[in-house]
Amino acid sequence: MPSNDIRYGWQVEDFAESESGIEATVRPVSGGTEQRVRPRYFVGADGARSSVRRRLGIRWLGETGIVRDFMGGKMFAVYLRAPGLRAAMPHRLGWMNVAVNAERRAFLMPVDGISEYAFHAALRPGENADAWTEEDARRVFAQAFGKNLGFEVLSATTWIAGHSLVAERFGAGSVFIAGDAAHLFTPTGGLGYNTAVEDAVNLGWKLAHVVQGRAHANLLSSYEPERKTVALRNTAYAKRFADSVGLFVALPELEEAGPRGDAARAAASAHLNAHARLEFNIPGVTFGARYDSSPVIVPDGTARPPDEANQYTPSACPGGRAPHAWLPDGRSIFDTFNFEWTLLALGAEVPDATAFEASGDALKIDLKVVRYSEPRLCELYEAPLVLIRPDQIVAWRGERAGDARAVLRAATGHPP
Ligand SMILES: Cc1cc2nc3c(=O)[nH]c(=O)nc-3n(C[C@H](O)[C@H](O)[C@H](O)COP(=O)(O)OP(=O)(O)OC[C@H]3O[C@@H](n4cnc5c(N)ncnc54)[C@H](O)[C@@H]3O)c2cc1C
Repeated sequence: MPSNDIRYGWQVEDFAESESGIEATVRPVSGGTEQRVRPRYFVGADGARSSVRRRLGIRWLGETGIVRDFMGGKMFAVYLRAPGLRAAMPHRLGWMNVAVNAERRAFLMPVDGISEYAFHAALRPGENADAWTEEDARRVFAQAFGKNLGFEVLSATTWIAGHSLVAERFGAGSVFIAGDAAHLFTPTGGLGYNTAVEDAVNLGWKLAHVVQGRAHANLLSSYEPERKTVALRNTAYAKRFADSVGLFVALPELEEAGPRGDAARAAASAHLNAHARLEFNIPGVTFGARYDSSPVIVPDGTARPPDEANQYTPSACPGGRAPHAWLPDGRSIFDTFNFEWTLLALGAEVPDATAFEASGDALKIDLKVVRYSEPRLCELYEAPLVLIRPDQIVAWRGERAGDARAVLRAATGHPP
């Protein structure tokens, strides 16, 4: 966006909000003169150790330090170069390979598809990886994957699994927090960054509307109830996935020849196959987050669809993601939505939407009316008129455009 000014290598050193506004001090990390900036709004997207969150005195809620054999405790991460790994691997190289044995629990992900990999191993009780050498990295890899490869260590570090934390508040005054600054996951399910991006999308369009005078400042008050609800939901899902894989006990007999080993391997296979589907086949988690209790969603009294990790139930019940549909010309209905607001006018007798257009103009809302006559779209959305927000969430649906002004005002944070 031409309006953005991105300063890589600059650090926020301090900020404060007073009655005269926000003042922040920024300085290049490489040194140099500090600059003072006076933003109207300020967003701390500054990661798990967020100085913005701490400066605002916002506490974490939830659990941390959860201990499991895997994905609960300190993890040792090695970024390695091993051109011979693919040939040495007795199994198909996956998007992710997971090693399960009594000696070492670990996972491996190809980075460049040729020779670079990310290897993450769970530490065992009493181990301290901070002083581990490259030789230790190769030893730990051999424990997990059964072969000592003479790979090159590009970097090694540790990180902590076992967080399930959500900030008590997502900001104060004109300051907001987003991403890992506001919620911290165990990475099972791969939800941390996904949830962070959704925070940015949610806050982004709201800030733009308020700054450009196209919404009431109250619109920003909906950021916390909407995103905190999803952060609590998603960290709970991630914790459930971490329990499913991390509390599984890898018995020594897994590597034993004979019937005892066969039985242990069959039991592990059944559990881990079911687990892989539970953790990674999650359209319900990805598409099913909802903002039912948001002050800027206009409910229609219908029941929300079930919230299930592995099953996504498309629904235009206000507060959730607009359902996808293919159009006769092969496009997705999403490709015809406006960048900002969309009013779907559906059905054989396409309803009159002029009241929405007029109210949208009056409120300076960028609204595009998109008309489709296919009955199946009306059935899918269960209403002839559907208002979709810039973040593709259904804000309202109904039969008549008569309420247009009240609906648009409510969806943009205006008091009744
Ligand atoms: C092993 C592992 C696997 C993961 N896998 C996945 C996955 O598959 N999918 C997924 O969605 N998520 C995954 N995650 C989580 C994901 O990495 C994080 O959720 C994501 O990086 C959070 O993004 P963020 O921008 O909020 O914070 P960060 O990525 O931490 O970025 C914060 C930035 O703010 C900068 N910063 C901090 N303080 C200041 C300051 N004072 N001034 C200026 N800049 C500052 C930092 O330098 C940093 O660049 C995984 C995490 C781990 C550990």
